[in-house]
Amino acid sequence: STDVELSGKTRVLTVSNQKGGVGKTTTAVNIAAALASVGAKVLVVDLDPQGNASTALGVPHTADTPSVYDVLIDEFPLADIIQVSPESPRLLCAPSTIHLAGAEIELVSQVAREHRLRTALDDYLATEDHHLDFVLIDCPPSLGLLTINAFTAASEVLIPIQCEYYALEGLSQLLGTVKMIQKHLNPRLHLSTILLTMYDGRTRLAQQVAEEVRQHFPSEVMGTVIPRSVRVSEAPSFGQTVIAYDGQSAGAIAYREAAVELIRRDHASSKEGSA
Ligand code: ADP
Ligand code: MG
Repeated sequence: STDVELSGKTRVLTVSNQKGGVGKTTTAVNIAAALASVGAKVLVVDLDPQGNASTALGVPHTADTPSVYDVLIDEFPLADIIQVSPESPRLLCAPSTIHLAGAEIELVSQVAREHRLRTALDDYLATEDHHLDFVLIDCPPSLGLLTINAFTAASEVLIPIQCEYYALEGLSQLLGTVKMIQKHLNPRLHLSTILLTMYDGRTRLAQQVAEEVRQHFPSEVMGTVIPRSVRVSEAPSFGQTVIAYDGQSAGAIAYREAAVELIRRDHASSKEGSA
């Protein structure tokens, strides 16, 4: 049971960080599953050719599976490629396949190449029975056209930060890209949320990194921190999120808290009247 209240509108978040291995995919799928577990209808768009989000959500994504590639390059409707995760009828996935690796190059010569995902999502949501509370876009670790499609489709950027050396390195480049997208492609885009991940509270380093990130981004960093947890890293090899794999583990509890905080934070910011 839950005491969270959904707003009725669709929030589109892109989970971005141009560093690899910082917990983007893990955060996208586990927050999505946690949101679904408290009653939200959630779509995960897997924009990474590696397809790790599709794997973790238990969704087939072999080369012949209709995928985000077909949406971006051949203008398939999203409804034709979306699959339901076996974990929950409220948890949907637009899978990636290996073909997406070529999309970065193929998009260069296409018309409205930055808006392909945005248009597909708008068309999907325009259908009465396609309501979504959240869309979470899992980005590849680069700032190419796939990530730009995510930034153009989203209004919120969620940055997972690993509590490690050089956590803030590269962040100014990412924020510079967000500014450029705001100016030229999508004025609604803003950094709404930073989530500290793989936190090991026993180390002085993790505490220092968390402190430093909170100093730089006092209103963006979530109160909830995701601990380093073996259960979180084991879950994808069973084609599951940690919410389904071990719902009582520290990682699952933290991701559920993060999901509830994400819902509540939006209520707070709407009350303040900010965009
Ligand atoms: P990215 O998508 O940014 O490349 P991933 O989400 O794939 O990063 O995470 C990188 C690695 O770290 C994966 O092996 C994942 O299982 C592991 N990992 C992520 N979050 C945690 C965590 N909270 N505890 C333990 N391992 C984690
Ligand atoms: Mg990833």
